[in-house]
Amino acid sequence: MKVVVVGGVAGGMSFAARARRLAEDAEIVVLERDPYVSYANCGLPYHLGGEIPDRDALILHTPKSLADSLALDVRTGHEVLSIDPPEHEVRVRDLATGREYVESYDALVLSAGATPVRPGIPGVDLPQVRTLRSVPDVDALQGLLAAGATRAVVVGAGFIGLESAEALRHRGLQVTLVELAPQVLPVLDPEMARGIELALERGGVDVRLATSVTGVYDDDGGAVQVVLSDGGTLGADLVLLAVGVRPETSLAADAGLIRNARGSLVVDAQLRTTAPGVYAVGDAIEVVDAVTGAQVSVPLAGLANRQGRAVADRIFGRGGRATTALGTAIVRVFDTVAATTGRSETALRAAGVDVHTVHLHPGHHAGYFPGAQALHLKVVFGVDGRVLGAQATGGEGVDKRIDVLATAIRAGLHVHDLADLELAYAPPFNSAKDPVNMAGFMAENILAGDLALWSAADLDTAGPDSVLLDVRSRAEYAAGHLPGALNIPHTQLRTRLGEVPAGVPVHVYCASGFRSYLALRVLRQSGWDHVRSLSGGLATLRLARPALTLLTGEPTDMLATGRP
Ligand code: FAD
Repeated sequence: MKVVVVGGVAGGMSFAARARRLAEDAEIVVLERDPYVSYANCGLPYHLGGEIPDRDALILHTPKSLADSLALDVRTGHEVLSIDPPEHEVRVRDLATGREYVESYDALVLSAGATPVRPGIPGVDLPQVRTLRSVPDVDALQGLLAAGATRAVVVGAGFIGLESAEALRHRGLQVTLVELAPQVLPVLDPEMARGIELALERGGVDVRLATSVTGVYDDDGGAVQVVLSDGGTLGADLVLLAVGVRPETSLAADAGLIRNARGSLVVDAQLRTTAPGVYAVGDAIEVVDAVTGAQVSVPLAGLANRQGRAVADRIFGRGGRATTALGTAIVRVFDTVAATTGRSETALRAAGVDVHTVHLHPGHHAGYFPGAQALHLKVVFGVDGRVLGAQATGGEGVDKRIDVLATAIRAGLHVHDLADLELAYAPPFNSAKDPVNMAGFMAENILAGDLALWSAADLDTAGPDSVLLDVRSRAEYAAGHLPGALNIPHTQLRTRLGEVPAGVPVHVYCASGFRSYLALRVLRQSGWDHVRSLSGGLATLRLARPALTLLTGEPTDMLATGRP
């Protein structure tokens, strides 16, 4: 069996290594256009920022090391020019010599990745305008830094844009981050993304949201002027485009393989393309969304690696099926971490899925143990209780909770199962009730009707007859409260029930959503039917509504709503 692989990084090399471990006698040829194979492209921003100072640390293998350890025939600087599926051949050019030759195959594995999108704006080909995908790309950026770049504009606030903005700040540059959407990291729900926007600002990045770059123009002295959609301009020595990637599938399309509307290769559950003997993996293919079942593009390294392994298993008789995609991802932005798995509330609602959500702000470990850091966790679940998505921001412990929730979604768990998960606990690591358990308890309460929540959107729609009840302490209320709120600290509620208007909706709130839940239970069991607790408390509301103004001043101890 002779297998030819196009692309020698994440998916391609994962395939080749597994294939060799399964088939000692197979002929495995890996054709890679770039000078490097098996490099850590996920590490590129950290090399740019200086955290991985040694460039060689990114290059995990060479053709020689792969020949020595796995008997692979790896050819760097060899570009595949065309595929001939009926003849089972590819045409290849050796970029060093210009020589072209034909390589035959029994099976062909395409792992050609994706190409950074370069928007069609003036100046996009100027030498100061770069992208970050490969080792030569990071070398070019290092060259601009070595030449004295001090001002950078990063375009796009997705994962790579955020990592690059952080990296360039670490190198001492003045960085402006321009994002078309009204929030950073659009994969997150807006209130969760806000924590990352604040982290960028703390890190010294000038964030411009709901703004696009309309052109880049050569300035005198080697710099450029970046023109923005709001009419502003930014002087820059370096512009890094991080506005997304496009699947690298032109070769396959020329050979007649079917692509979807987004240009991703269509594959079946065994990762077979529409041409016999041709498989495809990684950023170039469409995958099935584990939550919605829709065909989506998820350009992430873990998927590419697992798919490469699955194709090797398939070709060499071990079954080998593609798993669906959860889109589990994580990013560090200065002092803050954001992670996500499954689908966001925004995406699910846009797809017409009816969902519930819970927001909570627990410590990442027991609060009485020194060093507890706040975690902002959001869990999205269906009306049937199935866990559909989760997002978290914070510091320590974000990764752990999202990985637990990713496992839960993959296993099709229900929120009752979250409540019942038995997770490792000792005070330096956790609380006896893990934040994931807590999310499960809250979700169970919602499904049981014991808890109803309100959120930022209800501030606009709450009728004049509803009551805002602030159950924090008097001092907290005086330091800042929602306009029109009545203050009854939750510890006094049982003795001051007479002050709470009856027969109208009561919107209770506190700092994080816990005391308001306690108050809700008191009111519900004392005859108040229409009581809701603010999801995530003021901590979440203020992220959802950055412009919200809280009033200061002592409570009147009378109905601030003016109702008798
Ligand atoms: P690649 O790994 O990109 O490999 C494709 C290779 O095919 C390329 O080397 C290309 O030169 C070669 N090729 C293309 N056409 C031809 C041809 N005609 N002939 C020969 N060779 C060809 N994912 C995460 O999950 N976590 C992260 O933290 C993360 N960070 C990232 C940071 C950066 C800066 C980048 C760029 C990506 C990051 N990713 C991350 C995404 C991840 O790297 C990709 O999802 C993954 O590499 C995709 O694997 P692939 O095999 O499809 O493509």
